[in-house]
Amino acid sequence: MKVRRGVLTAIEVHARRDAPHECCGLLLGTAAEILEAVPTRNIAAEPSRRYEIAPEDHFAALRRCRNDGEGVAVVGGYHSHPRSAPVPSATDLEQAFLEFVYMIAGPVDGSAPLEFRAYRLREGVLAPVTFSISD
Ligand SMILES: [Zn+2]
Repeated sequence: MKVRRGVLTAIEVHARRDAPHECCGLLLGTAAEILEAVPTRNIAAEPSRRYEIAPEDHFAALRRCRNDGEGVAVVGGYHSHPRSAPVPSATDLEQAFLEFVYMIAGPVDGSAPLEFRAYRLREGVLAPVTFSISD
């Protein structure tokens, strides 16, 4: 899988802006490449510990892909771990659904670069997905 560099930059900006809350959003692209990160609102009751993508934001992204008609779809989601490594939590696993790629970024620690890791639900676990960065 490929991920555009701009996707990671956008997630990092969002993660820093929303810390100490978790940020969340959707990943747009194709099966082969993630092209865009679309920020969404985190409506979880405890946003410093969890994330929940606002359904209206999710619908808006789906509608946009349909209207664009360029073969780009919502292929995944992202969120941040402000205080911990980008390793899926039990909640992340519970919330995960098939077909989606999950990008997690964290921790947000001063000016240190965030670490990004991608996962996909496979046989009941969020298995790591390797990706390369494209320009
Ligand atoms: Zn998480």
